[in-house]
Amino acid sequence: MLRDRTAVITGSTSGIGLGFAEAFATAGYRLVINGIATPEEALLLTHRLEEQHQTQVFYHPANLADPEQCTALIHDAQQHFGSVDILINNAGIQYVAPVEQFPADRWDAILAINLSAAFHTIRAVLPGMQRHNQGRILNIASVHGLVASIHKVAYVAAKHGIIGLTKVVALENAARGITCNAICPGFVLTTLVQKQIDDRATEANVSVDEASIELLREKQPSGRFTPVEDIAALALFLCSAAASNITGASLPIDGGWIAQ
Ligand code: NAD
Repeated sequence: MLRDRTAVITGSTSGIGLGFAEAFATAGYRLVINGIATPEEALLLTHRLEEQHQTQVFYHPANLADPEQCTALIHDAQQHFGSVDILINNAGIQYVAPVEQFPADRWDAILAINLSAAFHTIRAVLPGMQRHNQGRILNIASVHGLVASIHKVAYVAAKHGIIGLTKVVALENAARGITCNAICPGFVLTTLVQKQIDDRATEANVSVDEASIELLREKQPSGRFTPVEDIAALALFLCSAAASNITGASLPIDGGWIAQ
């Protein structure tokens, strides 16, 4: 049904992004996937998604820390499949340290990948979407786009920034059939969060399970991680016709985190 529609998903070789890839392929979209992977890993993943979902998948190796490669990702996707209907800016990294000890190069990398990359891909994708008067842009922010936590200065700054970016893109394109929204997950159990749990377990000299329960207890009242599939279902809804008048929104999916 949708095999002539293309979704570009950044950072889709693992975690939440891979969940988006699976869900949009299942829904019949052609995919442009991206993320850090060896050529062999990328080929394996591409073939698996193609065979499992009977769709076309194109892997692009863009390093999103580089603005030119962000633009190339979009232009190559348009060239490969004709147009881009959906852009999901999902790639992200994390680093945890107090502000005065936060390495400047980690600040630069987090701002580049978690915020500036989305500006560059959106800037490149909009003219095509505007020509067709249709498009969906999703920015994967975080609860840290809405509230702060200690030791995450660059991440919190970048995620607050991407919510601002989302609103401006939504306003400028509100009457053009293009929506732009941010999804704000709380804790989702991916490698990005597993590393924080492992570090906490080591620091507190407790088991990984105990560290994980403690992490949730501090922030996420539901006491459980949000499954990747639930985030993907929200993304699919935001790309559906029923969501055509939802734009500029920042939607938490966080087990009650920001209600506190
Ligand atoms: P993950 O580490 O599992 O996946 C990150 C993806 O980004 C990977 O595919 C990786 O290859 C890619 N990536 C990293 N640096 C890149 C670069 N320079 N160029 C291209 N790709 C790059 O992490 P995740 O938890 O799936 O996170 C995905 C998004 O969701 C991030 O933006 C993250 O901030 C956000 N998020 C995650 C959580 C959570 O609890 N896991 C919560 C809120 C928001």
